[in-house]
Amino acid sequence: MRGSGRIAVVGAGLSGAVIGRELAQAGYRVETFDARNHIGGNCHTERDDGTGVMVHVYGPHIFHTDDTEVWNYVNGFQTFMPYKNRVKTTSGGQVYSLPVNLHTINQFFGRTFRPDEARAFIETVADTTIADPQTFEEQALRFVGRDLYEAFFKGYTQKQWGCSPTELPASILKRLPLRFNYEDNYFAHKYQGMPEHGYTAMIGAILDHPAIRIHLGTHFRRARTSDFDHVFYSGPIDAWLDHAFGPLGYRTLDFERFTYDGDYQGCAVMNYGDVDVPYTRITEHKHFSPWEEHRGSVCYREFSRASGPGDIPYYPVRLVRDKEQLTRYVDRARQETAITFVGRLGTYRYLDMDVTIREALDTARLFLAKAADRAAMPAFVQSPV
Ligand code: FAD
Ligand code: UDP
Repeated sequence: MRGSGRIAVVGAGLSGAVIGRELAQAGYRVETFDARNHIGGNCHTERDDGTGVMVHVYGPHIFHTDDTEVWNYVNGFQTFMPYKNRVKTTSGGQVYSLPVNLHTINQFFGRTFRPDEARAFIETVADTTIADPQTFEEQALRFVGRDLYEAFFKGYTQKQWGCSPTELPASILKRLPLRFNYEDNYFAHKYQGMPEHGYTAMIGAILDHPAIRIHLGTHFRRARTSDFDHVFYSGPIDAWLDHAFGPLGYRTLDFERFTYDGDYQGCAVMNYGDVDVPYTRITEHKHFSPWEEHRGSVCYREFSRASGPGDIPYYPVRLVRDKEQLTRYVDRARQETAITFVGRLGTYRYLDMDVTIREALDTARLFLAKAADRAAMPAFVQSPV
């Protein structure tokens, strides 16, 4: 069926756009569906009429990767402007630098350590009796000791995940570095930047191909599968299977949007470590486009809570219970034919944008190779469990 098949792509986010584009270029006719009235999925950006600021509608997105092919891919659809994420955190009435670095340590402990001194000092406050940290809390106590853990991680994590850090895996904290120099770039990747005209324009350019038709405001239902030779589905796996094993656990976010005449906080991201501040962070969107100038400002206060029916699922929780449930969904999904589950919702994993694009490219290429061999396409290219 190479070059003649009819493909449905469910979701016009990054996963759907990249897969659709690859298949359209290979000669397939691609119908892309999204329940929302815009393309871009959760990366969607739009300019605010009042201030002219480019707003990251579903929360801030910073592009960072070590994958040269992915970096070249995105740059083929949009100019990327230099952007470094420098995050601050407010805790106990003071502002500190993140990720925890020499400045944070010196400020927090009122010292003037040089790198080696700070490293030796942290070893004296870290809990070295924890040989193999399993939980978030153990990892934090081993990594930075109790005082820094309680100031920067404990309250924030409780708010973000709605449970005690003793219930969360160590892997969540392992995403963050600990630095014994003054480097405060949140990410350490080789390539970092921000698309000049926003992510929606970039994804629009990816979708701009004569063989791709886009249907917005259209919820794709399972009954339509038989109209197509193959479906790539980037929606929630549990919704596709009618929540047969109960809803998978997600955290959703409520954004309290406000405007300000001027510069509200002087940086793009201000975290709040104290548990009695109900929000996790405030983002000020004009600072995500430092090459632009705007007098007015658009900010989001970000509140995290358990996702319920009708909420947007943002972060998969993936605790032990969720993973057991996920296994049942994956086993059931593997019995479906002519469908491949992709992206952060289809595989119930937290995926950065660069990984999303990498997986979408790999998925499309596997499909083309299988089609050339007349072999069946698997339901999952990346195992979710
Ligand atoms: P999505 O963007 O969720 O797209 C799925 C689309 O499918 C949605 O538009 C949905 O409406 C549609 N859909 C679902 N079901 C159906 C259906 N049945 N019919 C029709 N349409 C349907 N990554 C980074 O690299 N850097 C960051 O700084 C960063 N920040 C983030 C901040 C937040 C708050 C969150 C939650 C994520 C962040 N990410 C970041 C990750 C990034 O959002 C994802 O990598 C990316 O959105 C994944 O794209 P996707 O296409 O798989 O999913
Ligand atoms: N975290 C924290 N305090 C902070 C920032 C992060 O406790 O100021 C924790 C939190 O649990 C978060 C994890 O570290 O989920 C990973 O941080 P990252 O910045 O990668 O968060 P995400 O992108 O998942 O929101």
